[in-house]
Amino acid sequence: MVWLPSCRSLFPAALGLAGRRRLPCHHAPAAAHTSWGAGGQAETGKPNGPTAMLRHLLLKLRATGPVTVAEYMREALTNPGQGYYTRRGGIGESGDFVTSPEISQIFGELIGVWYISEWIAMGKPKAFQLVELGPGRGTLTDDILRVFNQLSSLLSKCDVSIHLVEVSPKLSETQALMLTGGKVQSNPEDKSAYMKGVSKTGIPIFWYRDIQDVPPGYSFYLAHEFFDALPIHKFQRTEKGWREVLVDVDPEVPDQLRFVLSPSTTPATENFIQPEERREHVEVCPEAGVIIQRLACRIENDGGAALVADYGHDGTKTDTFRGFRNHKLHDVLRAPGTADLTADVDFSYLRKMTQGRTATLGPIKQREFLKNMGIDLRLQVLLQNSHDTQTREQLLHSYDMLMNPEKMGDCFNFFALLPHHRLLHTDKKHKPESKLPVSPVAGFGELLLK
Ligand code: SAH
Repeated sequence: MVWLPSCRSLFPAALGLAGRRRLPCHHAPAAAHTSWGAGGQAETGKPNGPTAMLRHLLLKLRATGPVTVAEYMREALTNPGQGYYTRRGGIGESGDFVTSPEISQIFGELIGVWYISEWIAMGKPKAFQLVELGPGRGTLTDDILRVFNQLSSLLSKCDVSIHLVEVSPKLSETQALMLTGGKVQSNPEDKSAYMKGVSKTGIPIFWYRDIQDVPPGYSFYLAHEFFDALPIHKFQRTEKGWREVLVDVDPEVPDQLRFVLSPSTTPATENFIQPEERREHVEVCPEAGVIIQRLACRIENDGGAALVADYGHDGTKTDTFRGFRNHKLHDVLRAPGTADLTADVDFSYLRKMTQGRTATLGPIKQREFLKNMGIDLRLQVLLQNSHDTQTREQLLHSYDMLMNPEKMGDCFNFFALLPHHRLLHTDKKHKPESKLPVSPVAGFGELLLK
């Protein structure tokens, strides 16, 4: 199969018009702020006394001393009883932040096209699993499934299944409703999944708490705004060397938390700071490293690819820890469990943690990726098919949100893991006998394939 860049843009044109609501605002990185994670214009609110989560943390800190930022973040986000994602998980207009798939259907459609294009480029394997990490409300998978359905003639001989890795019972319910109409079975006996169902288009869907529970097999992985939600460690360079930032009770103010520095090195300072590090303040997300290692091993052993999209940097930023509540910056130490906590993804760390098991592409900016995927043509098709001014305005507005460099176009990045052999045909030097033309990886453009 010859896969030329122009073919990619045929897909967006072929998808037809399938309307769904688009939302106005987004989950954007904070403007620069000075104190760690305090978020200059934090939304203060007037809670009536400490939340259950804060009470739990105050008791713990008083009993056993300060905790790492990673431990604090894990508790605040995914504590089984009181964690933000466990109880609230406020994605969407009425929640705390909005993500690209919630803004425009085009986003998920183009990602669906990316998987089809990679499936074709990899010789149309007879089966694949689509594994999404942190699926939120299920909107992205829903848009991807619509693409798979519209291109069903291509996929008719392929056995496709969906595997969602989600820790939040609340969000998994929302996903089940979105994707299956709520018809799911809990704790199925035949699988390691905690829930299973069938999509509106007839594709089996399984839910897991951990990537390790997903059965092995040829898989396409997707992580959109997932890695930014994983716990980070924070480190500060001092005259005495690296010290870890910890969370402690503020002795001056009742029921309030504060950041402190570890008095000496901690296991994390020893293990996570590179000797050549030049920055004064560093954030490291070991959990992201472990998950990337697992994805890289799985792709190396069973084949497939991973697409990671998130805000982030290539090992250059320092303090990016921030909170969001009701679409406003929120002090990360205030009312834990009621706000989303997040930090920029360090793509250079993710690349390193693949340990060379797979090739990597990117990170490239969202606006470049979506442009390469044919967003302009897709927008034109949707505009031509919409007859009322309001829909047309919404389409243009959401396009601007996704693509404008000052909105989401520049701060969100795409990054991919691919088996080494996927890029080998590009190496004519070592494979001079190859008559196949280069098969570019959609979205990333030719430059990054060199
Ligand atoms: N991908 C979605 C949602 C992003 S929010 C979107 O772009 O709209 C982060 C998602 O990751 C939520 O679904 C949250 O419940 C989930 N999540 C957070 N930590 C997790 C963990 N450790 N394991 C699995 N899922 C997690």
